[in-house]
Amino acid sequence: MDQQPLVGVLAVQGDVREHLAALEASGARTCTVRRPAEVDAVDGLVLPGGESTTIDKLVRACGLQQPLRDRIAAGMPVYGSCAGMILLADRIADGRPDQQTLGGLDMTVRRNAFGRQVDSFEEDLHIRELGGEPVRAVFIRAPWVEEAGAAVQVLARVEHGPAAGRIVAARQGNLLVTSFHPEVTGDHRFHRLFVDIVRQNQRERS
Ligand code: GLN
Repeated sequence: MDQQPLVGVLAVQGDVREHLAALEASGARTCTVRRPAEVDAVDGLVLPGGESTTIDKLVRACGLQQPLRDRIAAGMPVYGSCAGMILLADRIADGRPDQQTLGGLDMTVRRNAFGRQVDSFEEDLHIRELGGEPVRAVFIRAPWVEEAGAAVQVLARVEHGPAAGRIVAARQGNLLVTSFHPEVTGDHRFHRLFVDIVRQNQRERS
């Protein structure tokens, strides 16, 4: 039980390598996940940024949708960043008509929410749960949380500009999401928080 947890990164599309590196720096063993057997093998999973419509299609084509939904329903810890956040939402606004999610989080997530003029931007966010220094949040064609149910714990909101107040990081049980990309900044506090959630979940199960 002292073994480091095995955390997978869904590797059908998106920024997989950056997450593998951030997870390893946070004390996890890692693997890529592309097949149902790999979904069953991991203690926790990261859904990376990328294009949620493409990831959704590939997840279904690879026969991963039901295995992933089953493990999420059974309490597996999952961290979704950007497109990964869209995949974990029960409801999407501005999705493609045929777009499906894995679900798990009682929230509506709006795709490409910050609009065309602001495809990408950065902001410092003060996140109490991570303590100390603000987090440099990098947003790339990012979604936001449009509305969230009572079980959702808000971790961060946009602090400045026209989108001030919008939820951009949240947690519900073992599911963690950010609109932004901590894997590209070298600040591993979100990945450490996630690996702690995975460890805690392992302890409760053993
Ligand atoms: N706009 C993308 C989508 O809708 C998400 C962007 C990202 O993951 N960087 O899936």
